[in-house]
Amino acid sequence: MKKAIRNISILLLPFLLMVIVHESVRPTIKEKPYSRKGFTTAMNSLSKSKKKCSWICHNQTTAFCEVYHSHHLKPYFKITDIVYFGFISLFYSTESYGLANILLFCVLSLLFVWYCIIKSLYIQDVSS
Ligand SMILES: [Zn+2]
Repeated sequence: MKKAIRNISILLLPFLLMVIVHESVRPTIKEKPYSRKGFTTAMNSLSKSKKKCSWICHNQTTAFCEVYHSHHLKPYFKITDIVYFGFISLFYSTESYGLANILLFCVLSLLFVWYCIIKSLYIQDVSS
């Protein structure tokens, strides 16, 4: 029973922490939040800023983010662009970009990491 609680906690606590951080930061944001299809994200705006990422970086798959916000990754753009634009093309090919994005990056990848952690803990439990 303790292991089940531990395993579920490992799955849920990062999400809880993410919500706590998000909701703690939200009241401190002064700029107009980005809204799309009736949903307000409340994190970052749609305005172009050279100082920080905004939804422009996400919505315009141009080099704006690479020029102003990703200086440390510049030597790796030849590799990361293939992966980044590959995922974007994959998501658009599903005709449901947002859902595909959430399923892959918010559900499946996190479940995979969670599975690996639980598997690692299980191996440690068996060997001790
Ligand atoms: Zn950016």
